[in-house]
Amino acid sequence: MEQYELIVIGSGPSGRRAAVQAAKWNKRVLVIEKSPAIGGVSVHTGTLPSKTLRETVLNLSGWRERTFYGRSYRVKDNITAADLLERLHMTLEHEVENLEHQFVRNKVDWAHGLAHFIDPNTLEIVDDAGESTRVRGDKILIATGTQPHRPDYIPFDGETIIDSDEIIELKNLPRSLAVIGAGVIGIEYATIFSALDVTVTVIEPRDTMLDFIDREIIAEFTHLLRLQNVTFRFGQGVEKIEKTVGGGSIIHLENKRIVKADMVLFSAGRMGATDKLGLDKAGVPTDHRQRIKVNEHFQTEVPHIYAAGDVIGFPSLASTSMEQGRIVACHAFDQDAYDAPEYFPYGVYSVPEISTVGMSEEEVQQRGIPYECGVCHFRETARGQIMGLSSGMMKMIFSLKTRRLLGVHIVGEGATELIHIGQAVLNLKGTLEYFVENTFNYPTLAEAYKVAALDAWNRMPH
Ligand SMILES: Cc1cc2nc3c(=O)[nH]c(=O)nc-3n(C[C@H](O)[C@H](O)[C@H](O)COP(=O)(O)OP(=O)(O)OC[C@H]3O[C@@H](n4cnc5c(N)ncnc54)[C@H](O)[C@@H]3O)c2cc1C
Repeated sequence: MEQYELIVIGSGPSGRRAAVQAAKWNKRVLVIEKSPAIGGVSVHTGTLPSKTLRETVLNLSGWRERTFYGRSYRVKDNITAADLLERLHMTLEHEVENLEHQFVRNKVDWAHGLAHFIDPNTLEIVDDAGESTRVRGDKILIATGTQPHRPDYIPFDGETIIDSDEIIELKNLPRSLAVIGAGVIGIEYATIFSALDVTVTVIEPRDTMLDFIDREIIAEFTHLLRLQNVTFRFGQGVEKIEKTVGGGSIIHLENKRIVKADMVLFSAGRMGATDKLGLDKAGVPTDHRQRIKVNEHFQTEVPHIYAAGDVIGFPSLASTSMEQGRIVACHAFDQDAYDAPEYFPYGVYSVPEISTVGMSEEEVQQRGIPYECGVCHFRETARGQIMGLSSGMMKMIFSLKTRRLLGVHIVGEGATELIHIGQAVLNLKGTLEYFVENTFNYPTLAEAYKVAALDAWNRMPH
């Protein structure tokens, strides 16, 4: 039986990062992946596909140019599902090639097959033909991610009633779409389809959405989506879904209202992909959503078995998963691991996009910190005018006592890139003065930092 110093189950961001990091210290590493290509949810069904679809939709629909040329402006008439998928497949193929090369360069072995535990150090890998191989690992990392939650009352058919993994196999663009679940994934897809002029209804049993984001930003975002013709049905759960003769669906809500749609995207939660791992043989427990609990070093209850990435729950991001993978490798091989800074950025790639770092105004209030805010609307910047931005805003929060930056919240074009300036200042414990005293390139959207900081400065004691 082959013996490895580290075996990683799953080739998503956390698994890959841990594997490559350990290999750089000349450790013998094996990655086991059940899909035919490496990359994980991040590359094949999640992050990259959704972001590539978004970019393609914005380009082909001429979305960014509509302020100048009118709402009916299109770069390409009659955009089809095939137009969207063509670019998607090209992007994914390139990314898989990059990742395979990274494994080859770093001498990381990888095996295709479904892994399950035989005992705490032994795994069996079963390939598509049913052939099995056993391997042993000194350390094992479970990086198996999540799979969409598919409750029995939703009649999934893979074409008109789908989950978010199935959206990348879309055959036709619907005229109307109902999205059940106003989490990050649901909202991203709702707004991407809305940019294609698909009539979108979002159904969410709770009264609010994206609760981890500053409420003022969400108020602005919701207003913009309503202007974009997105309809919200908040506070209403789904009772049942009835398929119609024409191929569409009628969604019956608990309050007896109905929503008709050509296509239904069910996007209400994901479950840890641990059901086939045989975790009982390893002595690793899971919670009600099949996720694994870990300590600060990402160790499970069995110290040589680690877990990282989405399988451990929040924040469930590709970006944070990679960092977790690095920390696992450092801890497993007694290398110094610097702790990740307290604040990491969160990006929601909706249309318009949202990004946030640090405390929201609600959090600052809960902690009783005296504070002041500064706001800049992108249309106030010269770059915003050049780009024809009629919407978009940045909100910064500063401590009145220390003048330190506490949080930055952005909705609008470029938010997920712009946020990193705020992140740097925040984690380096910078103050309002950084933004007031430094020169920013002109014209840029980054200048919004200066405008928002000056807005706060005007209201703060000097
Ligand atoms: C639609 C969508 C959009 C997203 N957008 C973003 C975004 O914009 N930014 C961001 O940072 N994050 C985003 N995410 C989240 C991001 O994709 C995840 O946080 C990230 O992929 C988690 O990485 P991971 O290391 O847990 O592994 P995953 O990427 O989840 O991969 C796990 C791998 O394990 C394999 N596996 C599972 N069980 C076994 C087994 N028993 N044997 C062998 N292999 C197995 C699976 O096949 C899979 O390849 C998005 C997710 C989704 C679904």
